[in-house]
Amino acid sequence: MTTHTVVLIPGDGIGPEVSNAVRSVFEAVRAPVRFVEHQAGKTALNRGYRDLLPEETLEAIREHHLALKGPCTTPIAGGFRSVNVALRQELNLYASLRPVRSLPGVKTRYENVDLVVVRENTEGLYGGLENVITDGVVVAMKVATRSACQRIAAWTLDYAKRNQRRKVSAFHKANIMKLTDGMLLEEARKVPAGGVEYEEVIIDAAVMRLVQDPSRFDVIMCENLYGDIISDLCAGLVGGLGVCPGANLGDHDAVFEAVHGSAPDIAGKNLANPLALLMSAAMLLAHIATTRGDDRCRLLADRIRLAYEDALTHGQTTRDLGGQLGTREFAQALIQHLKG
Ligand code: NAD
Repeated sequence: MTTHTVVLIPGDGIGPEVSNAVRSVFEAVRAPVRFVEHQAGKTALNRGYRDLLPEETLEAIREHHLALKGPCTTPIAGGFRSVNVALRQELNLYASLRPVRSLPGVKTRYENVDLVVVRENTEGLYGGLENVITDGVVVAMKVATRSACQRIAAWTLDYAKRNQRRKVSAFHKANIMKLTDGMLLEEARKVPAGGVEYEEVIIDAAVMRLVQDPSRFDVIMCENLYGDIISDLCAGLVGGLGVCPGANLGDHDAVFEAVHGSAPDIAGKNLANPLALLMSAAMLLAHIATTRGDDRCRLLADRIRLAYEDALTHGQTTRDLGGQLGTREFAQALIQHLKG
């Protein structure tokens, strides 16, 4: 029986705690996955590596093609460049896929939210190309290339078709960013929609409509920075960052990680909700099933999903969702709900 090797990067802050929770669930279901641990982020420096993103971590992902990653801290206004951005660029993980769904037992303003955010993951303002022009004047460069715009538009429409989604909405600000956002729209219009409805919405109006009525949207496609912000907004519609998973996908490699960051305010306190990383891990299992034809992994992904839905329905949640359980206790409770 095949075992799939997956690079596990615990990351910083709450990363190791939520990674351990996922490991315990994978062990409980005897997932056909072998985790090989590699480091990134401040944790890598603390472990004696000279780089925040050690070459051996990148090499391991290139070798095994799959990774599950905890969050990595990035300092604000100064300090080192984002490890997360570097990883996505180095491995050309151009599509960030973030499903956002209401969960049973998690009370929020809306019911039945079912959105997918697709974020272009390699360019926009995320190149970190900032310059001092003169004292008191700085500029940031927003990059859009035709090839990356074409690639993300084609990927998104294809995703929508493969997953029977009804509509793709391109959120943009091409009335102001005429060349950069304009190029994404130009390329998206060229992709055959194949039965999927395609629309373009100026992002300021789009966010208003999104908070008024999320059911108005289905798949949302954005350039990098808008996608980042929209993802957290969507997280707020379904219970917060503790329940929003994600995948960074390229043509060769895939890195699964939660939308949330390293949450320094709760790190090391057994307070973090491990569900977002566990849901990302379930996406990883589904990805293995699709790309490698291993149906056991799809069954396991479904089993894990049913178990956490059961736990949530019984009010067994971490504090971010109004419950009392710690990270470890929630993982244990979830394991009790695994059936079959
Ligand atoms: P954050 O997502 O870490 O935290 C925002 C808020 O949500 C905090 O109050 C936090 O406690 C809470 N939260 C986040 N995840 C949670 C979880 N699993 N369970 C319960 N509560 C949770 O965002 P931030 O504070 O803006 O960023 C902290 C650091 O993380 C920064 O250095 C940032 O650059 C980094 N970051 C990394 C990634 C990544 O690695 N992909 C993503 C976002 C932010």
